[in-house]
Amino acid sequence: MNKYLKELIDVSLLDREIDLMEPKIKQIKKGLNSKLYQQEVKEQEILSLEEQKESHRLQLLKCNETIATLGARLEDISKKMGEVKTEKELKALNIEEELAREQITYQNSEITRIEGLLNSVDEKIEQTKASIQSIQADIVEIEKEVASELEEIKKEQEVISKKKSLLVDKMDQKIVVFYEKIRKWAKNTSVVPVYKQACGGCFIKINDRVYTEVLKGDDITTCPHCGRILYIQED
Ligand SMILES: [Zn+2]
Repeated sequence: MNKYLKELIDVSLLDREIDLMEPKIKQIKKGLNSKLYQQEVKEQEILSLEEQKESHRLQLLKCNETIATLGARLEDISKKMGEVKTEKELKALNIEEELAREQITYQNSEITRIEGLLNSVDEKIEQTKASIQSIQADIVEIEKEVASELEEIKKEQEVISKKKSLLVDKMDQKIVVFYEKIRKWAKNTSVVPVYKQACGGCFIKINDRVYTEVLKGDDITTCPHCGRILYIQED
């Protein structure tokens, strides 16, 4: 096989390896990102629970204020009862008193209900905090793993990049430029094997003349349809 073609195949394989590193890195970080997202969701939950709590607290305040007002009214009623002159007045005061007491009873039952809600919100907050803690513990573990995996990939990346630059340095620079031009659009399918007399990039059948050229391997041959560099895969 032509020396230049051999070098082109090698450099394209190295480029492919380098490009495969990115998805690998993304894959490694995926687990960590999903945990970070879970943590964020839980933190949002706590914020909304705190808001609920605040609104329950305001409701409680209102109940207590209402009870205080009703208490004052009861006092007022009992004072008036001492000065009552007619049966009719007494009856009216009795009705008013009964109404105030009913309202106090209702407010007290509201307080009990709201305190129950507050308790359950508190419980939810505690549970959510506990799950945040466990997520954070997972994050610490995953971060350790990710760091060591990324370190390995970085080393791998350096080795391959070194190999590539050594190879590119000794290559004919015109051929390198030619290859880079194709790579701009064909990416990792810039140098492709011919399979069943068809281009391995565009999959269109190549004519006998071009196929013979590729089989000889004396020259750098490109696909007449798409322009990718062609070769015959040995073995
Ligand atoms: Zn082609």
